Amino acid sequence: MRIVVAGAAGFIGSHLVERLLGEGHTVVGLDNFASGSRVNLAMPARHPAFTFIEHDITRPLPPLGPCERVYNLACPASPADFGPRPLEILAVCSQGVWNLAEAARAAGARLLQASTSEIYGDPLEHPQRETYWGHVNPIGPRSCYDEGKRFAEALLTACARQHGLAVRIARIFNTYGPQMRADDGRMLPTFITQALRGAPLTVHGDGSQTRSFCYVSDLVDGLVRLMESDVTEPVNLGNPAEITILAAAREVLELTGSRSEIRFVARPADDPRIRCPDISRARTRLGWEPRIERRDGFARTIAWFRDHR
Ligand code: UDP
Repeated sequence: MRIVVAGAAGFIGSHLVERLLGEGHTVVGLDNFASGSRVNLAMPARHPAFTFIEHDITRPLPPLGPCERVYNLACPASPADFGPRPLEILAVCSQGVWNLAEAARAAGARLLQASTSEIYGDPLEHPQRETYWGHVNPIGPRSCYDEGKRFAEALLTACARQHGLAVRIARIFNTYGPQMRADDGRMLPTFITQALRGAPLTVHGDGSQTRSFCYVSDLVDGLVRLMESDVTEPVNLGNPAEITILAAAREVLELTGSRSEIRFVARPADDPRIRCPDISRARTRLGWEPRIERRDGFARTIAWFRDHR
């Protein structure tokens, strides 16, 4: 198949491109390097079936040619990006998705949108099922991303209803692995970088908030299965093994052998207190579940960060 991947230079996008090329597909990657990196495209760039177009999807799209699938992973996704670039995030989640939806419609392609656990906000239901409507602050520091992604789900649902566009919606929970940016502000790259430097690990608040971490190859497998399925409802993709942030910090210290101390610092506003996916739908409808245990995945990620310092 000929497949378009928007956000091809990003963390998840670049892993997805490698997987699709490995399966023998022709891939057209789009990215404006807002948060992605050329380094992530080093392997695809050498592949004869890969074409790259540097482009911001909020602008009118260049001709993409015939294609059967469009994956949209284009969006800055770290809470560290939400403060400095909220308008860019809202634009990419609205006009950007709109442009991709029109391109997919013109090509007769199926579109998969990378949505997020953030649409559940600071959840009052635990674990989170796809039927939960969420608890989101529409004017908070994270609202550009949370509401942007909610708008994108609404937009694509409308495109499906009004134009018959074939849409798939993946609600992605915390994902990690090689090729994360060391400075992207998220928990794991921050803790690993701090541990390897011998600097204090900055745990927000008392560290009792929880997250559930999915290794990137598992996540990419879920994306491909969802795209090729007949499931048109949103699907949670994440690893349901939940851990507190303090326990995750201790695990990083143990796995790196670092003697760094743990330093408790102020917790950002609206930081969700708990997060864990209910993945029953992915299990039953896609035959998918994560395979990589967190300790194994953390160790692989630490090894990659050691090699890429
Ligand atoms: N966090 C932390 N220290 C850091 C970075 C993050 O304690 O240096 C916490 C953050 O407050 C949140 C959790 O780790 O509770 C996960 O944060 P991340 O930015 O990775 O992603 P989020 O799940 O908030 O989108």
